[in-house]
Amino acid sequence: MRIVLIGAPGAGKGTQAKVISNKFNIPHISTGDILRNEINKGSELGKKAVKFVESGKLVPDEIIIEIIKNMIRKSRSENGFLMDGFPRNLKQAKMFSSTLDHLGIKLDKVINIVVDKDEIISRLGKRRTCNVCKSVFSINNNNENFIKCPECGGDLIKRKDDDVEVIKHRLEVYESETRPLINFYTDKGLLVNIDGSGEEKEITERILKFL
Ligand code: AMP
Repeated sequence: MRIVLIGAPGAGKGTQAKVISNKFNIPHISTGDILRNEINKGSELGKKAVKFVESGKLVPDEIIIEIIKNMIRKSRSENGFLMDGFPRNLKQAKMFSSTLDHLGIKLDKVINIVVDKDEIISRLGKRRTCNVCKSVFSINNNNENFIKCPECGGDLIKRKDDDVEVIKHRLEVYESETRPLINFYTDKGLLVNIDGSGEEKEITERILKFL
């Protein structure tokens, strides 16, 4: 199974990607997670990427393309993959298509998770990530003081790019760079639109109907 998940930041791609990749036993490839991991390690790649990630800009295509080529090579021996956060613009999508064609691999579906803008701003403002196990949580009025991870006791931190001004910039980048992928994959007959509102489980069920 080869799946691409697209949608605005905060649409719930990461959450759904974990459930679906587990269900189909395929690697979950999140370019955002890979970049954050490199930044935390202080690697050369992380040093190049940090200013883009923290300000909500796209990391240059050359860096992303290199990461993805390595991941595709590794995943050839597995049951497929689930891409989360890649491709992010038309250049990446075209490169991805030609790499897959070259390897004789076809995508099964591109899932576009649709959530309205106000909901996204509200969700991202409440998002916290555990600095140890990387689980993602949403704080609300009742658990505002809940600063330890319920899974492992690690500290819950707010991503720098979930600051409200950076969120607005990320949404602009989404509109200009990423939204055109909807037409690109519609033309290829691969796109499915999924309503991303409501409970996590309901959204998973909506997605699974198409897989
Ligand atoms: P995400 O976790 O998918 O929201 O990504 C967080 C940040 O990582 C983005 O705002 C970009 O700075 C960077 N990033 C992730 N994936 C890509 C990509 N495919 N192309 C360029 N930048 C990316």
